[in-house]
Order: sequence, then structure tokens, then C-alpha cells
Amino acid sequence: MRVIETQMIETKVVMDVLCDRCGKSCMTQLDEGPPPLRQPELGTFKASWGWDSNHDLESWTCVLCESCCEEFKTWVDVGEGQGMEVTNAY
Ligand SMILES: [Zn+2]
Repeated sequence: MRVIETQMIETKVVMDVLCDRCGKSCMTQLDEGPPPLRQPELGTFKASWGWDSNHDLESWTCVLCESCCEEFKTWVDVGEGQGMEVTNAY
């Protein structure tokens, strides 16, 4: 037999994700009405540095909104087999 009681559990929920460059929200509104459905539209970038770098063993991670990612794409070499790879998720 199970003995059941109702408990209030505190939960942390991500309400928004802000771009680390411009500070703009990376969440996109999908639908109107309560509660609004939102999904993240963002890019995540990570850099890891080794012993001989100027940033010994540091690891950097940042989140960029879609417009900052589009700007990032303009100064990263986008080509087959080199630089940033662009693929279609569908
Ligand atoms: Zn941004």
C-alpha cells in the first residue's frame, strides 16, 4: 500500500535566455494567449584553452541571439571543410 501526501516542491525554471553580446532575449514567441509558448533561438559557442595559451585551462562559453549569430557568421570563414559549418537542421 502506498501512503500518499501532497507536497509543494520548489522548482527553478529558465524564464529567459539573454544574448551575452547585446543582452537581447533569445526567446521567440510561438503562440499568443496564456501561457505564451516560447522557444530559444540561439547559438552556443565554446572555447577551451590549453597549457601554452594565454588563458591556461580556461573554458569560455557564450550564448548569442540570432542577429548576433548572423553577424558572427560574416567574420567566420564559412566554407566546405573549413571554418564554421552551416547545415540545415531539416
Ligand atoms: Zn545578440
